[in-house]
Amino acid sequence: MSNNQNKTAVVTGGGSGIGAATAIKLAKEGYQVCLIDIKEDKAAQVKEEIDRAGGDAFVLDVDVSDPARVREAISKVHQKWGRVDVLFANAGINGTVTSIEEMDPDEWDRTITTNLRSTFLFVKYTIPHMKQTGGSIIITSSINGNRTFKNIGMSAYSTSKAGQTAFMKMAALELARYKIRVNAICPGAIATNIDQNTFTEDDVKEVKIPIEYPEGNQPLENAPGKPEQVADLVYFLASEQSSHITGTEIYIDGAESLL
Ligand code: NAD
Repeated sequence: MSNNQNKTAVVTGGGSGIGAATAIKLAKEGYQVCLIDIKEDKAAQVKEEIDRAGGDAFVLDVDVSDPARVREAISKVHQKWGRVDVLFANAGINGTVTSIEEMDPDEWDRTITTNLRSTFLFVKYTIPHMKQTGGSIIITSSINGNRTFKNIGMSAYSTSKAGQTAFMKMAALELARYKIRVNAICPGAIATNIDQNTFTEDDVKEVKIPIEYPEGNQPLENAPGKPEQVADLVYFLASEQSSHITGTEIYIDGAESLL
């Protein structure tokens, strides 16, 4: 029997990319998984894949920036399975690519709300349930929140990702007394549909800031990483194998952030 039998995980953005790969990995490792996504049909396809592999998952159609819906979603997980062991706060968008001068304040808010406020909401409403057993919270930040600023024009995105790592550190300190660990992962470029999912053509405006960066993706392989590689890291941070790791950001970028 797997050590993870009867353990539960909540995965936001579970319908696509990193969230989907992680939900599948956790389910294959024995976790019962709640898939949360605003695109219910996509999350349902991931659930079907988990079902076919003999796993246990259910889908909730939730906008991660809506406090009432987030609170209700976590309560439903607790009602259904009686515990919340792992939270993967991962849903996010790139937001509009534009200069600060041309950035619409509402668009700034949309990116910060979807990426950062959602992280606060999920952690906040998970605490009452997770503190009963202890657990692991993993937040998807990005190398753009700290080390590399190649993506000129993504000021709101980078700010939201930096905010997530700052929040992660505060949460790790506050929640250690409940044996809740909190860590952030910082992926470099990963092959997902995030651009298609979050940009319309109108979203990408010309960014008139002439700064040049070295060519190439990342030193390790000349290609983006795979969602499954990120899923392996999340699984490690969820598991007892990482029982002394909290308050840390882990880069998974093939050294892209060092370029
Ligand atoms: P993705 O677009 O493939 O998946 C993101 C999922 O989040 C989608 O299914 C989308 O429907 C969902 N989502 C978006 N807004 C939502 C909302 N308001 N409520 C509920 N669900 C919502 O993207 P991905 O690349 O897998 O991104 C996952 C996370 O990884 C994001 O936080 C992103 O910033 C981060 N990240 C991605 C990369 C990359 O290169 N792909 C690099 C660094 C960090």
